[in-house]
Amino acid sequence: MPTETFEFQVEARQLLQLMIHSVYSNKDVFLRELVSNASDALDKLRLEKLWDDSLDADVSDLHIQIDIDKDARTLTVRDNGIGMSYDEVGQLIGTIANSGTAKFLRELREAQDKAGEEGLIGQFGVGFYSGFMVADEMTLLTRRAGESQGTRWSSRGEGTYTLETVDDAPQGTSVTLHLKPADPENQLHDYTSPWKIKEIIKRYSDFITWPIRMVPEGPADGSDEAPAPETLNSMKALWARSRDEVSDDEYHELYKHIGHDWRDPLETIRLQAEGTFEYQALLFLPAHAPHDLFTRDFRRGVQLYVKRVFIMDDCEALLPPYLRFVKGVVDAADLSLNVSREILQQDRHIEMMRRRLTKKVLSTVKEMMTKDRERYDTFWREFGTVLKEGLVTDTENRDAILAVASFASTHHESEPTTLKSYAERMQDGQEDIYYLTGESRQSIENSPHMEAFRERGIEVLLLTDPVDEVWADAVGEYEGKKLRSVAKGQIDLDAKDEDTPDAEREKQTEEYAGLLGWMKEQLDEDIKEVRLSSRLTVSPACVVSDAHDLTPALENMYRAMGQEVPRAKRILELNPHHQLVKGLNQAYKEREDRSELAETAELLHGLAVLAEGGQPKEPARFVKLMADRLERAL
Ligand code: ADP
Repeated sequence: MPTETFEFQVEARQLLQLMIHSVYSNKDVFLRELVSNASDALDKLRLEKLWDDSLDADVSDLHIQIDIDKDARTLTVRDNGIGMSYDEVGQLIGTIANSGTAKFLRELREAQDKAGEEGLIGQFGVGFYSGFMVADEMTLLTRRAGESQGTRWSSRGEGTYTLETVDDAPQGTSVTLHLKPADPENQLHDYTSPWKIKEIIKRYSDFITWPIRMVPEGPADGSDEAPAPETLNSMKALWARSRDEVSDDEYHELYKHIGHDWRDPLETIRLQAEGTFEYQALLFLPAHAPHDLFTRDFRRGVQLYVKRVFIMDDCEALLPPYLRFVKGVVDAADLSLNVSREILQQDRHIEMMRRRLTKKVLSTVKEMMTKDRERYDTFWREFGTVLKEGLVTDTENRDAILAVASFASTHHESEPTTLKSYAERMQDGQEDIYYLTGESRQSIENSPHMEAFRERGIEVLLLTDPVDEVWADAVGEYEGKKLRSVAKGQIDLDAKDEDTPDAEREKQTEEYAGLLGWMKEQLDEDIKEVRLSSRLTVSPACVVSDAHDLTPALENMYRAMGQEVPRAKRILELNPHHQLVKGLNQAYKEREDRSELAETAELLHGLAVLAEGGQPKEPARFVKLMADRLERAL
């Protein structure tokens, strides 16, 4: 087959441009990325051979080799791992599959200054492409294990790449970087220096469990005998070494390798379990939520090893879905090397392990909360939304999750509060914890439901994540205190309010009985009850849900998930202190013809729905009625 030229996918091209003109100061990391890919390729081949012994591949000496050619200014990273087929090269190297990429590129374009750009590149990690930070041309020669023909890929990073079939490619992949011209000003970045390469490997890839070899510089006497390659990394699994033997930096490099992240993790968690079922775990809490955390194809990070041997990526049996952002390694002593995902899902030991790891992660967050509030705040900002899913799905750990949760609140405009602090601030006589859900802090704060709470200085939690609707409903209480939505059920703040004695309330009820009954008839299709409100101080009316009904937001959520739920009728509450309501009552009593009042009732209902961020049932009709009224009021 002749050499064919292809164009990079648009995103890939943009990313390449970025690499070529990169301002990223730590260019050394390109080598970590290539070694990381090579290591993954060796893991994959070992596993594939394990599953299929007939695979025509040599697994007797799996390793990574680095070759330097000073004269040609090339650096080659070679592995004898799984390799790639012709089609795979086009797919894996010519395109960017990661769904977060488009978003990342958009942010990058918006980051005007170089510092912002550097920060963004640092948090994304671009794997293979990072080679273009130091090379002006890259070639890749690869042969997939079991296949006879290999593929050569080559590109100058500028928009196109070539592919060509080759007959005599060795098993695995070799990536050759044609390094940019030497910079006499900056000897630090001389990647043809074996010393430099050794240093980078030691720093970034020491823990890689496969040997990384390099042939030392030839003997000075010019004899032909090639010196034997030396192994640059210690290959020691970090999780199997004692804590004081391993530096934080080393842990962080392991994290970057398995987490495909360029930034340090927020927290490192170690766990050693002795006894009948032995295992070691090294887990990391990332410092930033990945772009695709809420997408279906999000890859869960925990890898499973058996006695130092890599078994699988993204082992979902090891942690519950609400901890899917946790990265790391779990090494179990007594599992079969052939263990499958299906078996893991049912294994009793794995189940015990998952429970223990879950508790360990939660207790670590708790510790962060008490010892290092700033770090905790970062964690919660990035992962709180995911963790809250656990309040619904993991009843066993519900209390532990509630204990580390924090929420925006009317108590402070920017600092979130824990439920514990909320409880400590509760007013005399206040028995429940109040919350309101909505789209944004601002829309919640302006909601009519909040009026009486604001006036009486009662704290309300302001919940803006979609998942809040669900968990608040499911959890129900915290340490004996009910969690109550201020938009649901009867809120009887007046019971504690001396200003409105019982006698007056009775009078009010009597006073309005006729109007309330009549309005209920008018709005019967959407409203199950019309009553007087103790929530309102400024607005004339609001709609609330019955204590046990789903809120409209929850209804919508269930529908979005394809579940049939009936539309629950809501309750309309009127503010008896409002002039409009007083006037309406008056008119109701005086007039025979109530057709115009019926329109007023409809408008009042529409306004209440609008005020909580909803939509009147027939917006066009609502607007017309309203416009007519305004016209008459001119
Ligand atoms: P990432 O490693 O984050 O997936 P890369 O751009 O570095 O992104 O690599 C893209 C894909 O190309 C890898 O996921 C892998 O499937 C494939 N690949 C890269 N390097 C190698 C290699 N040395 N051997 C086999 N496959 C590789």
